[in-house]
Amino acid sequence: MSTSNPVNLLDFDVDGLVAWFAGLGEKPFRARQVMRWMHHEGCDDFDAMTDVAKSLRAKLKEIAVIRPPVPVRDSISTDGTRKWLLDVGNANAVETVFIPETNRGTLCVSSQAGCALDCAFCSTGKQGFNRNLSAAEIIGQLWLANKLLGAAGDAATDLDAGEQDNGRIISNVVMMGMGEPLANLDNVVTALRLMLDDHAYGLSRRRVTVSTSGIVPAMDRLRDECPVALAVSLHASNDALRDRLVPINQKYPLRELMAACQRYLERAPRDFVTFEYVMLDGVNDSDAHARELVALVRDVPCKFNLIPFNPFPNSGFLRSAADRIRRFAGILIDAGIVTTTRKTRGDDVDAACGQLAGQVQDKTRRVVRLKQDMEMRR
Ligand code: SAH
Ligand code: SF4
Repeated sequence: MSTSNPVNLLDFDVDGLVAWFAGLGEKPFRARQVMRWMHHEGCDDFDAMTDVAKSLRAKLKEIAVIRPPVPVRDSISTDGTRKWLLDVGNANAVETVFIPETNRGTLCVSSQAGCALDCAFCSTGKQGFNRNLSAAEIIGQLWLANKLLGAAGDAATDLDAGEQDNGRIISNVVMMGMGEPLANLDNVVTALRLMLDDHAYGLSRRRVTVSTSGIVPAMDRLRDECPVALAVSLHASNDALRDRLVPINQKYPLRELMAACQRYLERAPRDFVTFEYVMLDGVNDSDAHARELVALVRDVPCKFNLIPFNPFPNSGFLRSAADRIRRFAGILIDAGIVTTTRKTRGDDVDAACGQLAGQVQDKTRRVVRLKQDMEMRR
C-alpha cells in the first residue's frame, strides 16, 4: 500500500537524493541509479527500473512517486515551435516552450505561476503572483519535454557527441518563461543542478541561462551556488525610467545592478552578461536612450538582445517600428556592443516572445479564461 503523502523524487538534486536514500539505509550508488532512470530514461515507474533491487523498488513504490506536471495542451507552430500548457493545480497553469533551430534546440522554462514584480509591459506581471513552482515542477518541464520530443533515453545521455551538447534535441535551457527565477532561488538552484549533473541532463553551464529582472542579493547567491549564463532584463537606460518599467529597480537601482553583474562575471561560465531590452515605442527607444545605455554598461562586458514588444490587451504600450529598432541597434553596434534583435517565433500558437501564459482565477475562484502568451527565448 502506498502512503497518502508520497515524496516526489523529482524534487531532489543528486546530493538530495543520496541523502534521502541514506535515510532509508540505501547506498549512494542506488540513488544515482534511480536518478539516471528518472532523468536519462524519462522513467516514472519504479517497476521498470530493472537493475534496481526488487525490495528497494517495492519500498519506493510505497513512499515515493516520480510526478512531473501534467500537460493540458500541446500546440505546435508552423515554424516548429512547440508549447505545452501545464496544469500546476488550483486553477494555475504555466507554459513551457521548445524552440528548434538549425544548430540547437532551446527549452524555455517557467519558475513561478504568475510573478510579483509587476513590470509595466509584462502580462505575467499583470496577472499577479500565484505561487512558486516546486523543484519537481521546474525540472519536470525538462523531463516532460524530453519525453514528448522523443529525446529521453536517447540524445539526453549522449555525452560523447563532439562538442558536449551538440546533437541533442534539447541543447539549451533558458529560465525565461513565467515568473522571476531569482524570487524562487532554492527550487531553481535544485533544478539547475539537475540540468547540469551528468546523472541527470548533463547540460553545459554555458547553455543554461537564468534571466532576472535584477534581484541583486539573489544574483550574488546564484553566483555562489550555481553559476550559469546570466541574462538581465534591463529595459531602461536610467533609474527614473527603469523605476517605472521594472519597479524592482526602486530597491536595486542601476548602479547596484551593474556592480552585481560585474561580481557575477567573476564566476560566470561566459565572459559577458546578456542584457535584454524590450523595445517600447516612444518610451525607451530613442537615439538618446541608446547613447545613455552605452555609457551605462561601459564597465560591464555584455551583449544586447533587443526584444520587439509583444502587445497584449490594455498593455498601454506599442512595439517600436522596425526602422527605429535598427537605428537603436546601430548605435550600440557602433559602440562595439554585440547586439541582436530577437525574432518572434511561434506567434501562431501564442508562444511568441514576450507573450505569457497562465490561467487565472477571479474572486469567486471560478476559472476565467486562459491568458496565453509566453516569453520564450534562446
Ligand atoms: N522574470 C524574468 C524572466 C521571465 S520574463 C525576467 O524578467 O527577466 C523574460 C523576458 O521577457 C524578460 O526580459 C521580460 O522583461 C520580457 N518580457 C516580458 N513581457 C514582454 C512583452 N510583452 N514583450 C516582450 N518582452 C517581454
Ligand atoms: Fe516578472 Fe519578469 Fe514579467 Fe517582470 S518581466 S513581471 S520580473 S516575469
